Amino acid sequence: MLESSEMNFESPQSRMVSPHVTENDTDDIEVNLRPKTLSEYIGQDKVKENMSIYIEAAKKRGEPLDHVLLYGPPGLGKTTLSAIIAHEMGVNIRITSGPAIEKPGDLAALLTNLSENDVLFIDEIHRLSRSIEEVLYPALEDYALDIIIGKGPSARSLRIDLPKFTLIGATTRAGQLTSPLRDRFGVIQRLELYTYDQLCDIIMRSAVILGIACEKAGAMELAKRARGTPRIANRLLKRVRDFAEVIGNGRITEEIAKIALDRMEIDSLGLDNLDKRMLNMLIKGYSGGPVGLETLASAIGEEAVTLEDVCEPFLMQLGFVARTPRGRCATALAYKHLGYEYKGGAADNAQQTFFE
Ligand code: ADP
Repeated sequence: MLESSEMNFESPQSRMVSPHVTENDTDDIEVNLRPKTLSEYIGQDKVKENMSIYIEAAKKRGEPLDHVLLYGPPGLGKTTLSAIIAHEMGVNIRITSGPAIEKPGDLAALLTNLSENDVLFIDEIHRLSRSIEEVLYPALEDYALDIIIGKGPSARSLRIDLPKFTLIGATTRAGQLTSPLRDRFGVIQRLELYTYDQLCDIIMRSAVILGIACEKAGAMELAKRARGTPRIANRLLKRVRDFAEVIGNGRITEEIAKIALDRMEIDSLGLDNLDKRMLNMLIKGYSGGPVGLETLASAIGEEAVTLEDVCEPFLMQLGFVARTPRGRCATALAYKHLGYEYKGGAADNAQQTFFE
């Protein structure tokens, strides 16, 4: 089955509040916006504290950092953090992704080209195929590649030593990693959605870099509608600048931010049409649930992976959607936000299990 990122339809990349990379995000500006050091990296304090200890210890011992798995929804700074880790270790980083490594030979070429202590970053690591994973195991444990030469009874195995290196794997779905792969990461860190204050700091920092005049109250208005995600915050900043230049004097004030975001149909909490379609279907079509994600997705003509990766983490964070063993439920808060009367439902007994 095709993953949504490979599909050529309107969502999720084209949404203004999509946390996925879009064409506009991959220009030079985006590169400038990436923090380069741990101190510039805003938020994720627990992860930063832990990583700085591990980095210092590894540097003292003159060894590569243990393999690291970073997980959490897209756009939270996994790639950025990996580049920072390499920078703080004083080593190079090679960036690739699970779907880009098609054959064991692709991985072997990447590994044999690393220098001592380098970082290999594999995004979407849950999408590595089994045959590639098997090549990875001895590389991770013994810094070696086992290559089979020949076929049948005359086949023999040849071991090639690799430079010591650190694998940093990133995934939006830690649950989809096979346990042998997960067990080989010494450090596993979950990135959290950002608070409004942290997003406001990120927006103010980006505004300075991009030379945009932005008032704190304007930045806070963007922060409140950025779904806890720095990538979305930066994108909203760039689009709201356009409004500020055309309908104002170029300065992003609270008023301009509100007008612009309302015109972009992003509501006061950052919900866009897709979130609202999902909630409306859950409430009106299925009496608030419980309903299975696949059923919900086909009812609104969306991919289940989009709802699961993009809408759900945020709606759960807001406390609008709860997961139960029998499916998703809308909570009283969701009813209230969309202006419906809540008369009690399955969500009342649900346990929140945020994207585990
Ligand atoms: P992911 O790999 O998790 O999808 P990225 O590392 O590509 O996310 O981050 C998306 C963008 O958000 C980056 O270009 C960066 O500018 C910004 N960003 C992410 N995390 C932070 C942070 N902690 N502080 C400042 N900017 C951040």
